[in-house]
Amino acid sequence: MATVRTRHIATTVLIIGGGLSGLTLAAVLGEAGVDVTCIDHAPPFNQLQQQYDGRTTAISYSSHQVLQMAGVWEKMRLDCEPILDIRVADGNSPFYLHFASETDGNGAPFGWIIENRLMRRALFENTIRLKKKVRHIAPAEIKKFISDISFAGILLKDGTKITAPLLVGADGRHSATREWLGIPVQKTDYHQAAIVCNVAHTLDHENVAVEHFRAAGPFAILPMTRSKTGEHRSSVVWTEHGIDAGTALKLSPEEFDRRLQELFGSHLGDVRHVSPPMKYPLHLMHAESYIGPRVALMAEAAHAIHPIAGQGLNLSMRDIAVLAELIIDHLKLGLDVGSPTLLKNYEKKRRSDTAVMAAVTNALNRLFSNDLKTVGLVRGFGLGMVEQFPLLKRYFAAQAMGISGVYPYIGRNRR
Ligand SMILES: Cc1cc2nc3c(=O)[nH]c(=O)nc-3n(C[C@H](O)[C@H](O)[C@H](O)COP(=O)(O)OP(=O)(O)OC[C@H]3O[C@@H](n4cnc5c(N)ncnc54)[C@H](O)[C@@H]3O)c2cc1C
Repeated sequence: MATVRTRHIATTVLIIGGGLSGLTLAAVLGEAGVDVTCIDHAPPFNQLQQQYDGRTTAISYSSHQVLQMAGVWEKMRLDCEPILDIRVADGNSPFYLHFASETDGNGAPFGWIIENRLMRRALFENTIRLKKKVRHIAPAEIKKFISDISFAGILLKDGTKITAPLLVGADGRHSATREWLGIPVQKTDYHQAAIVCNVAHTLDHENVAVEHFRAAGPFAILPMTRSKTGEHRSSVVWTEHGIDAGTALKLSPEEFDRRLQELFGSHLGDVRHVSPPMKYPLHLMHAESYIGPRVALMAEAAHAIHPIAGQGLNLSMRDIAVLAELIIDHLKLGLDVGSPTLLKNYEKKRRSDTAVMAAVTNALNRLFSNDLKTVGLVRGFGLGMVEQFPLLKRYFAAQAMGISGVYPYIGRNRR
């Protein structure tokens, strides 16, 4: 009979899911001296492969501040390309919206583009640096969730028991933590899928991000760092109706590049894809509650939105900032980090912000992803209005940078 190893890890915060969000929360807390354990069922080696996640992320200005708190920004920045210009074009209208960081963003970049796998690598390395405070256990298979009046926790298949006064579910859209709590979700299927890949091109992107609205959905070209051999590169988020996305993936590499060239036009010269195209079905998902007894849900375990504005992970960074600040404040005062007060406060601060972003991205997608004539006139008029009024433009630029509204300053809580 096989012997099952049993050991008990008692930690202050247990995070289920060591994806981009889970690892960032672990690092922010570890930097502040909090004892954290983060577990993931996928082996880190697999998570670093291009086939695991072919996406890039547009990191907003405020998210970069959270990554600084996590002590990981310096590691990532060489792989990040700043966005200094944003151009928005509508397929059916002559209007063209242009944001320049110098005039509309106070000179700071609107954000930075990084490959998800490189961000993940930086986070893994950072976890090793923080090993005195952050325990990262992967791969780890959960056998069952456990809870009591004073803790929540898990029992792993190898017999390890991990308990904490606060458990955080950061285990993505199909969250087992959310399922364990029995929290229902509101879900809308967009019947669209995003095809993502990296593209090499002969001309310089000059740090311009382009979002081109088409009836099937947006086509975004995002500036990337040059390749090791010096090639100019951009990443593509190409939205199509579900069936058409499947068809596009079946094209031969040459036909795929021909189609890409049509969509790019000539402003970046000749284009060809340099990473395998991958497909992500799109839907809106919002958990009806973010909390349970001694449990908080965050990031895609709590919400998933349309990538039309590149804000999914940026929203999660705001979850991290708020949750970390509450945890650190409670610990400073000797209070229970799994208390209903902390949890309710977290939910109150985060759920409404996400609901607004979910509604905005949902409306943008509906407004721009169709070819009805009247809707086309309205959106053309809207784009023209924004272009004419500097204050309106600055408002939209601040939204893109994630610097509108109250922002929590977790830095002051460092111990
Ligand atoms: C096409 C596309 C483009 C996007 N572009 C942007 C962008 O430009 N900017 C932006 O801000 N956002 C963007 N997003 C959103 C962003 O990619 C996601 O929000 C982000 O990747 C989700 O990270 P996460 O950590 O919440 O979840 P995940 O990356 O799904 O991480 C969850 C982790 O939990 C682990 N896990 C799951 N179940 C278990 C379990 N039972 N036990 C243990 N571990 C478990 C998984 O292995 C994984 O590591 C985009 C999304 C799409 C689809």
